[in-house]
Amino acid sequence: MNEVTILDKTFTIMIPRKKIETRILEIARDLNSEYKDKNPVFIGVLNGAFLFMADLFRNIETPCEISFIRVSSYSGTESTGQMKNVVGLSGNINNRHVIIVEDIVDTGETVSYLMQEISRHQPASVKLATLLFKPQALKIPVTVDYAGFEIPPAFVVGYGLDYDGYGRNLQDIYVLKS
Ligand code: 5GP
Repeated sequence: MNEVTILDKTFTIMIPRKKIETRILEIARDLNSEYKDKNPVFIGVLNGAFLFMADLFRNIETPCEISFIRVSSYSGTESTGQMKNVVGLSGNINNRHVIIVEDIVDTGETVSYLMQEISRHQPASVKLATLLFKPQALKIPVTVDYAGFEIPPAFVVGYGLDYDGYGRNLQDIYVLKS
């Protein structure tokens, strides 16, 4: 499918499934060599990262664990603006090598917040693997250790990413048609 319509918007294909598959295998190969015998913990950020995590994790060949968290946003007072809250982070990452698995880094706010929260548990190391990265949209400096694809600052759906709850099941990644 070159085009899909979700609710009121039309999207065109940006990254076909074959390219996604190939790139994930490359990232898995890098992780396999970097984390060999380090007993890493993969922490996926729900909902968007669930497909990326599944395809990445099934190609990890060193003993490892998996866990999922969710970041919820809520409105604080006017002076503090949007506050974030992390749900599902357990304390068992102390002294462990952590790999955060994200769907997309846009402004960098979510990942920067997550890095802070995870660091409070004193892991041995924390790195970030994201399927998509919009470098031109970044507002907070974050280190992206493993990026599947760098993309322009446009809205994308598919392969776990949604538009208003829909489109996560698409096997390719699509971009909003201008
Ligand atoms: P950030 O905190 O880096 O600005 O944004 C991270 C979150 O915003 C992602 O985890 C994702 O949920 C959402 N997001 C950012 N850009 C896009 C996009 O192009 N498409 C979709 N579906 N979600 C996005």
